Amino acid sequence: MISELNYFMRKLHHISGPILYWNLLAMILIGLMEGIGIYMLVPMLSLIGVFEMGSSGIHIPWLTELLHRFSENGQLLLVLLAFVFILSGQAWMQRLQTIRNTRIQQQFIRTLRLETYSALLRARWSFFLQKRKSDFNHILTTELARVSQGTSLVLQMAASLIFTAIQIGLAFWLSAKLTTLVLVSGLLLFVLLRKFVRRAKQIGDQTSEFSQSYYYGITEHFNGIKDIKSNMLESSHIRWFDRICSQIERNVVQFSQLNTGTQLIHRVSAAIIIAAFIYLSLQVMSVPPANLLLIILIFSRLWPRFTAIQSNLEYISSMLPAFRIVRELKDQTEKNCEIRESRKEIGTPASQPIAPIDLVKSIVCEDVDYRYEGSDTYALKNVQACIPAQGMTAIVGKSGAGKSTFVDLIMGLVKPESGRILIDGKPLTEEQLLNWRSSIGYVSQDPFLFHTSIRENLRLVDPDASEEQMWRALQFSSSASFVRKLPQGLDTIIGDRGIRLSGGERQRLVLARTMLRNPSVLVLDEATSALDSENEQHIHEAIERLKGHVTIIVIAHRLSTIRTADRVIVLEEGRVIQEGGYQQLSMDSSGTFSKLLHMQAGAAGQ
Ligand code: ADP
Repeated sequence: MISELNYFMRKLHHISGPILYWNLLAMILIGLMEGIGIYMLVPMLSLIGVFEMGSSGIHIPWLTELLHRFSENGQLLLVLLAFVFILSGQAWMQRLQTIRNTRIQQQFIRTLRLETYSALLRARWSFFLQKRKSDFNHILTTELARVSQGTSLVLQMAASLIFTAIQIGLAFWLSAKLTTLVLVSGLLLFVLLRKFVRRAKQIGDQTSEFSQSYYYGITEHFNGIKDIKSNMLESSHIRWFDRICSQIERNVVQFSQLNTGTQLIHRVSAAIIIAAFIYLSLQVMSVPPANLLLIILIFSRLWPRFTAIQSNLEYISSMLPAFRIVRELKDQTEKNCEIRESRKEIGTPASQPIAPIDLVKSIVCEDVDYRYEGSDTYALKNVQACIPAQGMTAIVGKSGAGKSTFVDLIMGLVKPESGRILIDGKPLTEEQLLNWRSSIGYVSQDPFLFHTSIRENLRLVDPDASEEQMWRALQFSSSASFVRKLPQGLDTIIGDRGIRLSGGERQRLVLARTMLRNPSVLVLDEATSALDSENEQHIHEAIERLKGHVTIIVIAHRLSTIRTADRVIVLEEGRVIQEGGYQQLSMDSSGTFSKLLHMQAGAAGQ
């Protein structure tokens, strides 16, 4: 656990550099000034004869001499002026230091956020298959915020320790015996309260657990809101929500109970110790009243520092799980890194452009087996298939037959367990993966458009795309006519709070966006639903227009869109059971393809 803290501290050092030491220096100065300002008031007053301090206190002959040159009133004014000056200077420096601390902390968290986010985006697809997306949201928001808070607490703790050390030093100078007594009591109490620090960490573990379930729950529920509404599941979900909220509430209250509990112990001990001191001083040791004032002064300055350190330790302990979670994610994403780019280069022109591969002959699957992690059954087994360049290939089969997995393998999103993918006869290797992927345009079933204008959505792939290029792409994807009819044309805002588009329209817009990239291979996962026959016709037209220009791979759910396919690959339970031209397969009346055709024709006829 402490290694995690150590890791983040080293990271902080790496990110912030020398400014951390400036910060430390400033802390020492501030500590000194605060110490001098408060501690010295009484002795300075004694110096000019306001108090009689006996043997303790400070004796600086030259200062006494200097002060005695002034009148009595002048001396008092001088001492008080010095006091005001020191304390104001300290307050001013404190402000600068707080700002610097905020800067250090914010720079640290920004770097951490950027690193976590980009490491996530650069991780390979198979990594995302095993993970819950809500956990990423959770880590990028809550856990990173806790790490940030934790780091700031560690900085505060460092400040606290330095202040304490300085004050202990000053207090020692004033009275070594008294200070030793206060120190011993403080350490004793700290040892006695150790178990509370450990308990704080357990509470912190629960905090992570609860907030993770909270994120997971709300993400799931809003993804499935239609099912919830239409099946009247609201009350059971509200009950779940209520339960998790109560757990979160209990967890926070528990921490507060623990933290205030130790604070209480500290304060009560303070009262007992100081009462004992005063009793001993007055009754047993007959200490003069000015010294008594010194005792109270030292104690009232030092003790709250110990209390603050205890409290800080508890807070830091409760944040340690967040440090662990962020670190674990970092390790995992590093292990699964697909795109290696140095941090400086992310998103800048300095990053090497990835040269696409121009497919000229074919994509071949050779004896490919694939199993999802944690699954015993093969999603694809012994797959042999050939996808000719420039042609249109349709992948068909029932749901769960392995169509998406097959296409993911071809796109290099997942790696075959055994067997090879050959691109123009050359095996697809790790080194070529990104070049290959940059030649592919993919249009998913549930197309993803940002909540911004159509123009901005299109520019996402090509920031320099001209108006003419955009319209050409829209034309190609059969979306030009509906975009023209929209109130603001290309500048119409789409997405959640903008114009609502049908599934088919969204898919065609994504197709237009994909075409702007000039892919050499277009993969189209045909929507199973949300495609009325008019939309289907549009998609069909778009495919026809693209035929011959690019290699088209369609995951077909409606066999009517693939009538003109050059090649059809039929999958069943992870195996290729038929492969050939559309006409050829549809004539083979005993084959699965013609059965599928009949089934769909029957369904359409009803
Ligand atoms: P299709 O696209 O034809 O509907 P898929 O390629 O999605 O089929 O699925 C093929 C098989 O792999 C199915 O048995 C499915 O249950 C399994 N599968 C798909 N995705 C995953 C996953 N992420 N983890 C485990 N098994 C999966």
